[in-house]
Amino acid sequence: MALSAPTISFVSLGCPKALVDSERIITRLRAEGYALTNRHEGADCVIVNTCGFIDSAKAESLEAIGTALAENGKVIVTGCMGAQPQSISERFPDVLSITGPQAYESVVEAVHRAVPPAHDPKIDLVPPQGIKLTPRHYAYLKISEGCNNRCSFCIIPQLRGRLVSRPLPEVMREAERLVAAGVKELLVISQDTSAYGLDRRHERTSWKGTDLETRVLDLARALGSLGSWVRLHYVYPYPHVDALIPLMAEGLILPYLDIPFQHASPKVLKSMRRPAAREKTLQRIEKWRALCPEIAIRSTFIVGFPGETDADFEELLGWMSEAKLDRVGCFIYEPVNGAAANDLGLPMVPQEVAKARHDRFMRHQQAISLEKQRAKIGTEVLAIVDQVTPKGAIGRTKHDAPEIDGTITLSSQKPLAVGEVVTAKVKRAQAYDLHGVVV
Ligand code: SF4
Repeated sequence: MALSAPTISFVSLGCPKALVDSERIITRLRAEGYALTNRHEGADCVIVNTCGFIDSAKAESLEAIGTALAENGKVIVTGCMGAQPQSISERFPDVLSITGPQAYESVVEAVHRAVPPAHDPKIDLVPPQGIKLTPRHYAYLKISEGCNNRCSFCIIPQLRGRLVSRPLPEVMREAERLVAAGVKELLVISQDTSAYGLDRRHERTSWKGTDLETRVLDLARALGSLGSWVRLHYVYPYPHVDALIPLMAEGLILPYLDIPFQHASPKVLKSMRRPAAREKTLQRIEKWRALCPEIAIRSTFIVGFPGETDADFEELLGWMSEAKLDRVGCFIYEPVNGAAANDLGLPMVPQEVAKARHDRFMRHQQAISLEKQRAKIGTEVLAIVDQVTPKGAIGRTKHDAPEIDGTITLSSQKPLAVGEVVTAKVKRAQAYDLHGVVV
């Protein structure tokens, strides 16, 4: 079928932060009259938003560029891998343009050069919430770019630069627009959410007549006033994070804290150069649970980091037994080109040892998760509907973020709608997922 508007095929790889970049580029292109397709063939050009975090992500990005070149030929590359353009241009000299992350303007300019817009911008081509790649009832809200930390396994600060926080009123205006357009759950993302506003020296500002400081506490409180669910991701356990917990207890924001602890051995954390690594996390977790018994703590861990010994790993498992976290992800360490961890002079952990540790870690945590999930049987939980099914719906409780956590299968007598929040009685539980009946 011939399409009258110039057509762009878009490939979005990587993390939720990259997804937000994709949404912004797409929103802008749609506003200018470009149409989108998911087929490279027949499109006027292809944009590939790459991820350059670990080697497997880079390989996936390079493969996507290769496919786009083979199937279309006119390819624009952006995203994290674009921060090291030679890694792309050496292999694919024919790509039209390579830009780094957040370079929306340059991407749009490259599209203009490759395929001029058909007509003047018409803003009414764009729905009020912008074009979102995530389903309409939840949206990622990016509050800052970059990171001031220097975790030794990570090259994000090299790729994305130092922390740049968005002004608080700007974030609030975007959040308001999203909620007005029907978004029921805001997922706050950044590289380091706790550090929000540091670069702006926590400047005082005002939103709707309320004086606010540019810091995560005031932002969370303001977001909580909009009436949608508000979920915080990538929160580091700096001392001021304690002040967020009462907002969860009040129900202003979701009782869900995504804190990437990465390890528990002080020695490994020191080699990882993790921010706030010396905070007494077990005592903090206990305190948070006392303040907000409903809180769910999610975290990710890396096993097989250079220099990790059996004793370090056992320490991690012991810590997990005490912390009893609610949601946990675990990765096997993968060296990243350009990361400081490669030059620490620490012995690499053999792959088979790292794999065995990963499997043991997951089994260990699964038992903890199952026990916690089973304790919910017979209780009533709130769930947001993600997808309607013939017998009810698939949803998520307040303790489950989309894409990374579990789901609740909902049986219901009455028809349910996507984005609806319902109360369900939990009937069955597995390590990650629940089954409930809508009451
Ligand atoms: S906090 Fe550490 S892991 Fe996260 S982006 Fe910053 S440097 Fe990377």
